Amino acid sequence: MVCSLRENCGVMGIFSLSGYNITPLLISGLEALQHRGQEAWGIAVNRHQTFKRTGIVSQAVEAEYKEVFKLSGSVGIGHVRYSTTAKSTLEHAHPIDIGNIMDNYGFRIAHNGTLERELLIKTLKDSNLTSCHGITDTELMGLSLHRLLKNGHSWVEAFEKLNPYLNGSFSLVILTSNGELIAARDERGFRPLCLGWHEETSSYIIVSESCALEAIGAKFIRDIEPGEIITINRDGLKSEYFAHLDRHAHCPFEYTYFAHPSSRMEGINVYTARKNIGRILAEKYPIEGDVVVPVPDSARPAALGYSESMGIPFEEGLLKDRYKRKGGWRSFIEPEKREAIVSNIVAIRDVIEGKRIILIDDSIVRGTSSKIIVGSKLRGAKEVSLLLTFPPIVYPCYMGIDFPSQEELLVYKICGTSMNIDEINRRVAEYIGASFVGYNDTEGLSRGIGLPKNQLCLACTTGDYSCLKRKPRFKTRDEMKS
Ligand code: SF4
Repeated sequence: MVCSLRENCGVMGIFSLSGYNITPLLISGLEALQHRGQEAWGIAVNRHQTFKRTGIVSQAVEAEYKEVFKLSGSVGIGHVRYSTTAKSTLEHAHPIDIGNIMDNYGFRIAHNGTLERELLIKTLKDSNLTSCHGITDTELMGLSLHRLLKNGHSWVEAFEKLNPYLNGSFSLVILTSNGELIAARDERGFRPLCLGWHEETSSYIIVSESCALEAIGAKFIRDIEPGEIITINRDGLKSEYFAHLDRHAHCPFEYTYFAHPSSRMEGINVYTARKNIGRILAEKYPIEGDVVVPVPDSARPAALGYSESMGIPFEEGLLKDRYKRKGGWRSFIEPEKREAIVSNIVAIRDVIEGKRIILIDDSIVRGTSSKIIVGSKLRGAKEVSLLLTFPPIVYPCYMGIDFPSQEELLVYKICGTSMNIDEINRRVAEYIGASFVGYNDTEGLSRGIGLPKNQLCLACTTGDYSCLKRKPRFKTRDEMKS
């Protein structure tokens, strides 16, 4: 998928048991998580003010090298963010300071996920907060935790008490004023979070994706479990649970689109999952064609899987112009227009012209970029059949992926919620101008990933939000923009 869906972040926390300066590792790890958010980033290192900048990590570090590396310390947290609005990238960048970070109860927090604000506001109704207007879900969660800590609760008790009001997703890291590193993952495990170990600096690492462990030469230990809270201090690591549910809801979109192909989540390598899904698409839609072409970059392994299964050559007919980087300038583009930007996709005419192309992509959200790719980038092709690794997206996501409102989702717009897959395939093909469109289904997705359907969140395709504490009220386009 070419579009940039908004709001998916990456978090990282490092604690060196032997007191090494962890800032260089933190910076390198955040660079490896950059695919999870490119509009703002920040770090908080013990005994230093929180440092935040817009744009990508390497740009700011190059420009402010001396200032960044003054932030030395043996424990720290960091965050990369894809913001939801054009203007507020720095204002809402994480880590966020909660309370007085110099007293016993203050802390810094970095969060990947989305929580319902209304429920959290209830927990703060008798606090001295005059208005919750403009306060983000992360700040509200932080303020609620802060109050519970001040009332004498431990971290695990605070999460236990707050959990009934935590409706949505969170994979988070916290740096306490006492220099402890806390990590927690929501009870369903929507967003990934894992634990690693860096031998040279004797450091525990908590990070959204294992690709960052690889990047800094750390080894993967295990996934943080849903409902688990980890505390790391000079005494070592302690694991506790604030909730325990058998029914997890890992986000399959991480496997098909967001996560780095080298990452392992729930014991499954993302590249392998994508390739498997391509093989499953070959079973489901064995199309006669001349070449299999992926929409770069996330669909490449699936295209390879399809090509191998069908014995049809894999060709890079579309390439991303790697010299056009995503960066701060994109914040000046209204979020809803970002999807239409496919100018950094370059077609290789010699591969395309006169060919029957089997195009593989991960998903269609608004359909704008698919239409441009089929109608313009692939002009000259004899025919284009588009296969999608993710089932039709018909419902909005309230668990950390900021899809547009339901009214803007292509399948909902042209098919509503009650159509069968053949009719959806037909109508979407007509809309984007392809000869054929074939969506994966939830069985194929679950089989390809290697997780049972009852361990996946499939709400955006099935409309079943039972993995949330209560069904969200869908927002209109205007509400989302306000
Ligand atoms: S609604 Fe869709 S995108 Fe959101 S967490 Fe569930 S599967 Fe992932």
